[in-house]
Amino acid sequence: MSTRSGFVALAGRPNVGKSTLVNSMVGHKVAIVSDKPQTTRRAIRGVVTAPGRYQLVLTDLPGVQRPRDALTERMQHRVESELAEADAALFVVNGEQGVGGPGDVFIAEALAGPTVPVVIAVNKVDRLDRPRSVLALQAASELVPDAEVFPVSARTGKGVGVLVEHLAGLLPEGPFYFPPEEVSDQPEHVLLAELVREQVLHRTRQEVPHAVEVQVDEIHEQHDLVVVHAFLWVETESQKGILIGARGRMIKAIGI
Ligand code: GDP
Ligand code: MG
Repeated sequence: MSTRSGFVALAGRPNVGKSTLVNSMVGHKVAIVSDKPQTTRRAIRGVVTAPGRYQLVLTDLPGVQRPRDALTERMQHRVESELAEADAALFVVNGEQGVGGPGDVFIAEALAGPTVPVVIAVNKVDRLDRPRSVLALQAASELVPDAEVFPVSARTGKGVGVLVEHLAGLLPEGPFYFPPEEVSDQPEHVLLAELVREQVLHRTRQEVPHAVEVQVDEIHEQHDLVVVHAFLWVETESQKGILIGARGRMIKAIGI
């Protein structure tokens, strides 16, 4: 029996639900999820494997998350070379906030040139009634000519299976890139660092900037526990104070 395998480049404005969708597609928690934009700082790759059938490797498409000025030549070049390596692009839009704003149009333009199939996921449809869903799907279908459009809820999982099956159908025949049990090509310590960082951002709100870095130093087993030692790097003494918290309450909560 032949298998399919390949790469799908993920694009979409901040906060549309890309990380949540990756988690939902993979079925494991691999990408950091936050209600603040731009927390995904690495090209996180989730791997969706249907044993014996297909393996879909999700990569982050860099550079097109938000319109700055125009799409510079350098950025367009970066996007194109990334897309040249991909078998499809998955463009995530936010159905709840209205589809087709300047940010969406900016990304659509970047995706329209290169010749990979573009699939649009209209996310957060759990927040939409029928008429608004129809409008969002309509607006999405006008974004990129020939793109297939799928309504999904990354949060509830609705529509995600259908989307994955469609993407898998776009992949060429070929052997798997990763062992089926692997959900991410990021080493364990990187995934753990992302989880710690997620807690820092979640608990400190605006007080500690996204510049915080987490470095996992050591992972070991102790009885039936896995003990993780991590360093948190911040830029100022006052940020350090916030992270530690009164009587160490904050750092304790982050650790737990
Ligand atoms: P990213 O910046 O595109 O990676 O977005 P995230 O995955 O971090 O999600 C941003 C916010 O949207 C988080 O608060 C998510 O919980 C929320 N979110 C993501 N998907 C859905 C969805 O399908 N429905 C709803 N209601 N919220 C969602
Ligand atoms: Mg994200």
